[in-house]
Amino acid sequence: MSECAHCGQVCGDYAGGWSSVTRPDGSMAPLCHPNDPERPDCYRRVTVYHEPLGTLLGVRPLPAGVTGCKADLSALVKDLIAELGEPSDEDNEWADRVLDGTEPHVLQAELDAFTSALPNLLILAEGKWVLMKGDRLINVFDGEMEAIAEGYKVFGNVPFLVKKIEAK
Ligand SMILES: [Zn+2]
Repeated sequence: MSECAHCGQVCGDYAGGWSSVTRPDGSMAPLCHPNDPERPDCYRRVTVYHEPLGTLLGVRPLPAGVTGCKADLSALVKDLIAELGEPSDEDNEWADRVLDGTEPHVLQAELDAFTSALPNLLILAEGKWVLMKGDRLINVFDGEMEAIAEGYKVFGNVPFLVKKIEAK
């Protein structure tokens, strides 16, 4: 039996499977990966949600499953860049032109369609998030990240609009 490097509990006891990650120095860090919903799922907290290793040491009571993860957002951004590639000089120059207003807005069709649909959207789904491509409303989501994830999934690494449904 080993002690979980993330929460300090014994891994692999009743209802507690375990797994591990390799630390930067090459040593193994055991992590609990339980099927008991009352225990933290340290393996997924660290590998999927990027909670920094050891975040739950000394934290009592322990959270259950993956609730309340303190995600390391810089790690998420690094993953995203690894997947999509670093922006090129051309991309960065284009972004500068958009910011200083000399480049026509790349999402003008989406913004126009959003503006004309807004009165109805406010009635149906105020506070939620829309995903739009061209003049088409693709879907409505509870959260911004869900809408962005769906946009990348459906369209790939191209511009699409994700916007909150709220009165201006
Ligand atoms: Zn643990």
